[in-house]
Amino acid sequence: MNAFEATNHYISKASRMMKLGPRVERLLLSLEAEHHVTVPIERDNGELAVFSGYRFQHNSARGPTKGGLRFHPSLDADDVRALATLMTWKTAVVNIPFGGAKGGVACEPSLLSQGELERVTRKFVERISQEIGPQRDIPAPDVNTNAQVMAWIMDQYSRLHGFSPAVVTGKPIELHGSEGREAATGYGVVCITENFLQDAAGSLKDATVAIQGFGNVGQFAALAAYERGAKIVAVSDVSGGIAAKDGLHIPSLVEFTRGRRLLAQYEADGVSRITNDALLCWDVDVLIPAALGGVLTREAAREVRARVIVEAANAPTVPEADEIFEKRGITVIPDVLANAGGVTVSYFEWTQNLQCLHWTEDEVNRRLRHTLGTAYATIRDLVQSRKLGWRTAAYIVALGRVAKAAMLRGV
Ligand code: NAD
Repeated sequence: MNAFEATNHYISKASRMMKLGPRVERLLLSLEAEHHVTVPIERDNGELAVFSGYRFQHNSARGPTKGGLRFHPSLDADDVRALATLMTWKTAVVNIPFGGAKGGVACEPSLLSQGELERVTRKFVERISQEIGPQRDIPAPDVNTNAQVMAWIMDQYSRLHGFSPAVVTGKPIELHGSEGREAATGYGVVCITENFLQDAAGSLKDATVAIQGFGNVGQFAALAAYERGAKIVAVSDVSGGIAAKDGLHIPSLVEFTRGRRLLAQYEADGVSRITNDALLCWDVDVLIPAALGGVLTREAAREVRARVIVEAANAPTVPEADEIFEKRGITVIPDVLANAGGVTVSYFEWTQNLQCLHWTEDEVNRRLRHTLGTAYATIRDLVQSRKLGWRTAAYIVALGRVAKAAMLRGV
């Protein structure tokens, strides 16, 4: 199964349980639009490079579409379809007024200079500028894109359409970004984990945690968990992982990785080197995959030793692994709930931009906890009352909301 088929597998499963019927199911499985573009730029050495760019919109029944932009060499149309679809369910799970979209450019940013990266971003926006907009489709950061990239997007779109901060979220604070947005996805992952552990008569304090991925999401999740007393015993990035049985000092690691340094270069007493595969099977209470999709394969699923997996990454678990986890009694908190903190604060940023307001960090985080807490409780109640897995329950909630909106508006 490719990533898109895997996502659709969950939709079909929930749709059959809900008896939505083939007509509605077909509607929910279809994307509204797929914009493929080329992104030609002049390299610093004068040569021409041409990249593939994508912006796909899955469903806008509940509002303008929303979703991140990823710059990654392996990005392809199926990935973008899967990720755009996931955004529809994620925005519906947390009940914010958006549909789902995703996009990106198939390039390796670490091989581009800052100037080349800016030219890629601006050319990409030029090519999709009719397809995005504050009331149409609003991009945000994802793998290898950050606040600076969002600033270029806002500027390029504004040059073409007039000043439009609400066209993109995840912008720098100085450029109408929201307080709390950078940390929101990781912080949200930890809020959801905390709720789950409390319900299971445990607590994050003293829980052992392993985190794969030490970028935006992984770092902020690690910091938030560390500050709440959790013991982060293993973390990794693209270069490999490190582990310490007494717990890693996360603030030092965050400091160390500033300026593009990788974890493989980190050395400290009591810290050993591990592989990414070993990290996924580390003996911990909580496993947080926060890098790329598809890492929890059927083989890995048999070896995982965590009690609960909290999907900070999008689609880290393949469907076969999901079934193995269910049989093994390992709870999986699905991406559409676990990492929805980012899009929730993106919604707050968009709302502030449209009203020319600026909320404090406390205000943003209070609203975030409320939105995630409400979504968490709705899904937990369904899990308990109908004896469902968390992913199935989340999809039932999301599909119900999207199908209702689509039917009310008409095909
Ligand atoms: P990022 O680019 O900031 O960080 C990605 C991290 O993954 C880096 O540490 C990188 O070294 C590591 N990595 C890359 N390839 C790897 C590999 N093969 N093995 C192990 N580690 C690897 O990206 P991010 O924004 O933190 O996104 C991480 C995940 O979270 C993605 O799946 C993304 O779709 C998802 N997500 C992000 C947001 C957001 O707000 N940024 C929101 C929701 C979901």
